[in-house]
Amino acid sequence: MEEDLIAKKAELILGGPVLVPEGFEAPSRISQSTAGPGAGYGSLAFSFGRFRVKKPISRDTGDFELVVGADGYSLTRGGEPFLDRVGIVPIVRHCPEQAFFNLDKRCIYNCAYCTSPHLDRVSVETRTADDIVRMVGESLRECKVVAVSLTSGVVGSVDETVDRFVECVSAVHEAYPQLPIGVEPYVSTREQLVRLREAGADEIKINLETATDAVFRRTCPELNRSLAKRMVREAVGIFGRGKVSSNIIFGLGETDAEIEACMEELCAVGAVPTLRALSINDINRERIRAAVGDLPAVGTERVLRLARMHKEVLERHGLDTLGFRTMCLECTCCDIVPFRDLL
Ligand code: SF4
Ligand code: SF4
Repeated sequence: MEEDLIAKKAELILGGPVLVPEGFEAPSRISQSTAGPGAGYGSLAFSFGRFRVKKPISRDTGDFELVVGADGYSLTRGGEPFLDRVGIVPIVRHCPEQAFFNLDKRCIYNCAYCTSPHLDRVSVETRTADDIVRMVGESLRECKVVAVSLTSGVVGSVDETVDRFVECVSAVHEAYPQLPIGVEPYVSTREQLVRLREAGADEIKINLETATDAVFRRTCPELNRSLAKRMVREAVGIFGRGKVSSNIIFGLGETDAEIEACMEELCAVGAVPTLRALSINDINRERIRAAVGDLPAVGTERVLRLARMHKEVLERHGLDTLGFRTMCLECTCCDIVPFRDLL
């Protein structure tokens, strides 16, 4: 049963939108995310058992269908029963239980898979520290909030972007000192890390993005992967072992062994990898093809195999995901997370 539900979560992660019935009125706010796999689409978070997943919803077509029954929701796939007893979890800001903000969807870089800077359809003003504090306050009044998380594209320069993070983190920390704060900045110096920590950030995510240097050069030609690795190491010294995470996107032509080696490298310095299946959509399809060519789609089996490998690597290094209280490891909506989904 448990294995079956984890496999269904993997199917949902990899699949397309959920078709909602005509006239459907969501019981909670529809998220208009500007970062993460659902960026640019209206999404809802669905729960089943102890799992949850965030899915774009559609009123025209979908890989899954939401069925509204007399005793609650269920999901079908191609009209066939898929999941009974499905809940709809309130999204605070971007994800359940967290006020997660994208400070700015613009970015001076052009990573092939990234949709944020290309979201013309979604209008997001640059958010000030005052905006963030106000919105956190509104969220706290409306629902359960366990953390505040901040991400951003790089706007102007790396230094200027870190300045904006620091300003927002300080303001949130001062207004709501009880809430843990997670940040996902692009950083280039130790001093920037120290400033973020001293402003009140508790956890940090510095993404290696890909499993190998070779893939990275094709997908993120303007970024510096060896610098990111150095920043991860420095961050562990400043934020603590198990308080630094780093995302690896898979499905870009790398092997499982290369992913394992990358995870080993991160864990060896006390950082916790996160694994994210490549998400292809109309916004990034052509840029991904230009960068890495036509690749086979990631399948459910690989997601599950890598999740098991992920857990084994963490265990070998005495690490887990349970110490994280912010960002994707706390949210769990887009991945099979070891120790949370995969016990
Ligand atoms: S650095 Fe790359 S992944 Fe991050 S926001 Fe900019 S383009 Fe997107
Ligand atoms: S797992 Fe991360 S990207 Fe996905 S909804 Fe949650 S916070 Fe956003």
